[in-house]
Amino acid sequence: MPIYEFKCRDCQKNFETILTSSSKVSTVVCPECTSKNIMKTISASSYRLASTSSSIPTGALSGCSSKGGFS
Ligand SMILES: [Zn+2]
Repeated sequence: MPIYEFKCRDCQKNFETILTSSSKVSTVVCPECTSKNIMKTISASSYRLASTSSSIPTGALSGCSSKGGFS
């Protein structure tokens, strides 16, 4: 489950929300003041996930891209 980190611009509160494919960012409100004036921030855990996934052998990725010619 992807966890997204948000920050409320009204009360400066940081909070995390799990967004499933059926839920949208526009429906997220601040749990502190229920404001919709929020912005998405990138959490440290997301950086860890990104660096971990980059360690996947590039052979699989290049093999996929070599078949990407749709002309
Ligand atoms: Zn707030």
